[in-house]
Amino acid sequence: MKTANKTVTATKLVKDALEKAKHFKEYNIFNYLNEEGALKKAAEIDERIARGEKVGKLAGVPFAIKDNYLSPEGETTASAHILEGFTSPITATCVEKLEAEGAIMIGRTNLDAFAHGSSTENSYYGPTLNAYDKERVAGGSSGGSAVAVALDIVEFATGSDTGGSIRQPASFNGVYGLKPTYGAVSRYGVVAMASSTDCMGFFTKTPEDMDLLMSIATGQDPKDMTSLPDFYEKSEVKKVKKIGVIKDFDNDSVNIEIREALKKKTDDLKKKGYEVVELDMPTLKYALAAYYIIVPAEVASNLSRHDGVRYGFRSENSKNLESLYENTRDEGFMPENKRRIMIGNFVLSSGFYDAYFLKAAKARTLIVKEYEEAFKKCDFILTPVSPNYAFKLGEKVNDPIAMYLEDLMSVSLNLAGVPGLAVPVGKTKTGLPIGLQLVGPRRSDKALIEFAKELK
Ligand code: GLN
Repeated sequence: MKTANKTVTATKLVKDALEKAKHFKEYNIFNYLNEEGALKKAAEIDERIARGEKVGKLAGVPFAIKDNYLSPEGETTASAHILEGFTSPITATCVEKLEAEGAIMIGRTNLDAFAHGSSTENSYYGPTLNAYDKERVAGGSSGGSAVAVALDIVEFATGSDTGGSIRQPASFNGVYGLKPTYGAVSRYGVVAMASSTDCMGFFTKTPEDMDLLMSIATGQDPKDMTSLPDFYEKSEVKKVKKIGVIKDFDNDSVNIEIREALKKKTDDLKKKGYEVVELDMPTLKYALAAYYIIVPAEVASNLSRHDGVRYGFRSENSKNLESLYENTRDEGFMPENKRRIMIGNFVLSSGFYDAYFLKAAKARTLIVKEYEEAFKKCDFILTPVSPNYAFKLGEKVNDPIAMYLEDLMSVSLNLAGVPGLAVPVGKTKTGLPIGLQLVGPRRSDKALIEFAKELK
């Protein structure tokens, strides 16, 4: 990526990015543009360069953050009405690390409210449009970040992936999107969705950029107890020989052009001397059901802090404390947020806990084991990211089950904690991007990114 130097100033890079952001306004990518703050930081970096001081690895590189990453610039809204007016006193660890290397945050991007969704249509601020077709969805929930990179407004953007929210919009917009190993990048300072599956990651235009960002952002954070001691640089880039493909994902429920793209890539890999093995992973068919029990349960707990007292929006029409809670939540949450809170509290309730939550937790353990077994037979797995390419705006928004089915191939990775990288591999006949997903064992992130170059 282009960093600032004596001839190309940080101010120029930031100005260009801000200009492009405004040029593409109709795509509804940004919830907030950090114009003043970004230009001030750029001027500081330019002064340091002029003085001949050492600058970071990302000096003057404009980037965007998903609007669920906390930072004091603008409001952190998570695209939810209930957080409107909330200014964060803290900065997410991930953002802090990027900024310490000189990267400059130019804006906060749109998402499905609280990251609940697969299209960015659940945003309080309206949908983001697909970079390749304005009548289609950006994917989600990190739609704004994906489109910001795809339209070349910024060099990279942050995202969060609880069940596919980086990989799916990356594939819908033809960019790279990484969901790292669970715990690789600190979750501190990102609005929690489901704490046991939330992963922080990035959208980039190249695997090389992804590698650079991971080398900066990973590492243990005392503020996130689930963050892993740094393994990224130390992880050996092992010799990859065998690539697995999942038998169950090759059927009519997956779009034919996506299946053909997968077939073409596995044929190419065979020609390059890799062995392609077919994997039987029968437990994966329970991943979606388990995910849509475990995640709402955690969502219900995490969202209970939003009561109109401590953060953001408060309904004005309330007569007493109870109606204050009720009205604030009713007016402040989107329908999909409410649906998850209801499902989550239901599956955790005393009468149903064993039948739903406990059973889903057991299924999750089986899925973890199934991945462990699979990685005894191959080094990496190659699958579609989702069963379809970018669909039309409005097509699934009133059908939650159809929307959940979009996540069929992405959620099992989050349940198992393994890394997944969405790689752009081509276009449909009508010119829409197709992405495939490389999956590796835990802590194989660096090797996974390296291997993506083989799919070019
Ligand atoms: N689409 C999935 C969901 O709605 C994933 C969301 C995410 O990864 N944040 O739960």
